[in-house]
Amino acid sequence: MKRNTVDVITLGCSKNLVDSEKLLRQLQANGYRVTHDSEDPEGEIAVINTCGFIGDAKEESINTILEFCEAKEEGRLRRLYVMGCLSERYLKELQVEIPQVDKFYGKFDWEALLADLGKPYHTEIGRERSLTTPSHYAYLKISEGCDRKCAYCAIPIITGRHVSRPMEDIVEEVKWLVSQGVKEFQVIAQELTYYGVDLYKEQKIAELVERIAHVEGVEWVRLHYAYPTHFPEDLFRVMRENANVCKYMDIALQHISDSVLERMRRHITKEETYALIEKFRREVPGIHLRTTLMVGFPGETEADFEELKEFVRRVRFDRMGAFAYSEEEGTYAAEHYKDDVPAEVKQQRLDELMDIQEGISAELGMAKVGKTLKVIIDRIEGEYYIGRTEYDSPEVDPEVLIACGEGETPLQIGAFYDVEITSSDDFDLYGTVVSDSSQVSV
Ligand code: SF4
Repeated sequence: MKRNTVDVITLGCSKNLVDSEKLLRQLQANGYRVTHDSEDPEGEIAVINTCGFIGDAKEESINTILEFCEAKEEGRLRRLYVMGCLSERYLKELQVEIPQVDKFYGKFDWEALLADLGKPYHTEIGRERSLTTPSHYAYLKISEGCDRKCAYCAIPIITGRHVSRPMEDIVEEVKWLVSQGVKEFQVIAQELTYYGVDLYKEQKIAELVERIAHVEGVEWVRLHYAYPTHFPEDLFRVMRENANVCKYMDIALQHISDSVLERMRRHITKEETYALIEKFRREVPGIHLRTTLMVGFPGETEADFEELKEFVRRVRFDRMGAFAYSEEEGTYAAEHYKDDVPAEVKQQRLDELMDIQEGISAELGMAKVGKTLKVIIDRIEGEYYIGRTEYDSPEVDPEVLIACGEGETPLQIGAFYDVEITSSDDFDLYGTVVSDSSQVSV
């Protein structure tokens, strides 16, 4: 147990990660040594930043808290704090159920943790944070919360209403991150397309993305978590005309059956969904779409599921994730619908859908063989440099593996290279460098 050392453990999504990075920076400014390694905690203080999105995530958060409680009871830890979505959602219950934790904070009041450690909050370091990602990319959170009312979703209950960050503030953060060596920006929000409505009374995502793309030093901007209804069409032009805006969109579509969409309260129809995808592909040549789908929503029939499979086969998403419906207390669905699709049917549908996508992904990967793509190198792993193209977001999408054995030209982490794709497997691509494009702007 190292003195004056704090382990920050982050669970859940990249939005949580940004909060942890801000906390890490504040702790460092107060003279603490910090680590961000859940596998190997070593400090006398631990802070767990939890996720409370769905059942599995909640379980993981609670198990992690309990592991650290054990460490405290065995004398391997002096103080334990918990923050994030789970404690925002279940603060009172957790205080009663897990008294070994010194203090629970919600999602937005973690700054009080510093005061409880007897340390000040350093306002002068403002938007600075300690990046936990490789230094060439960073997540950029442009808003908090969500104003939509999707029936199954607990996020608005946890994070509250949509709050956009002022555009100036975001652009200043981008400039600061560029000065720290960041080249690639993973723009994140619960609901990307709503950006600006609260603050500027209109959707402003297109203007924001264009301003970020124009900051000198920004090489790639990647957009995550769009909602399909009232999609801001000016974003198509911005994506098409700015070469450094990745031709990539993470847009959760959830389902395609009209009756399921209606009960999900998604305010979009099957026909409108197909039309949006078609428009995307027409307006933004080369666009790669990632989506998330849900199986087993209350009342989902075999016929609904058949429609969903047909949707996946027809659209051929570049990347797709899926999950089984989990009833979340407090949501519209939990209060109005019976969770009537048996767990084994949900699992079977999930497996079937993922099987279809696996075949599609493998075919789409194979179609890239022989092409030369611009790749950023993230890290070295075993015998390979691991990189990504503009069509791949970190952690979730395919990677490009480039041999780094003896006799191979050494590559630089965080640099761009033109890579010829030589083969693919079910998920990843393999390639060889044909030229260094690190100095060439996109
Ligand atoms: S738009 Fe996304 S975050 Fe908002 S309620 Fe719907 S699913 Fe939840």
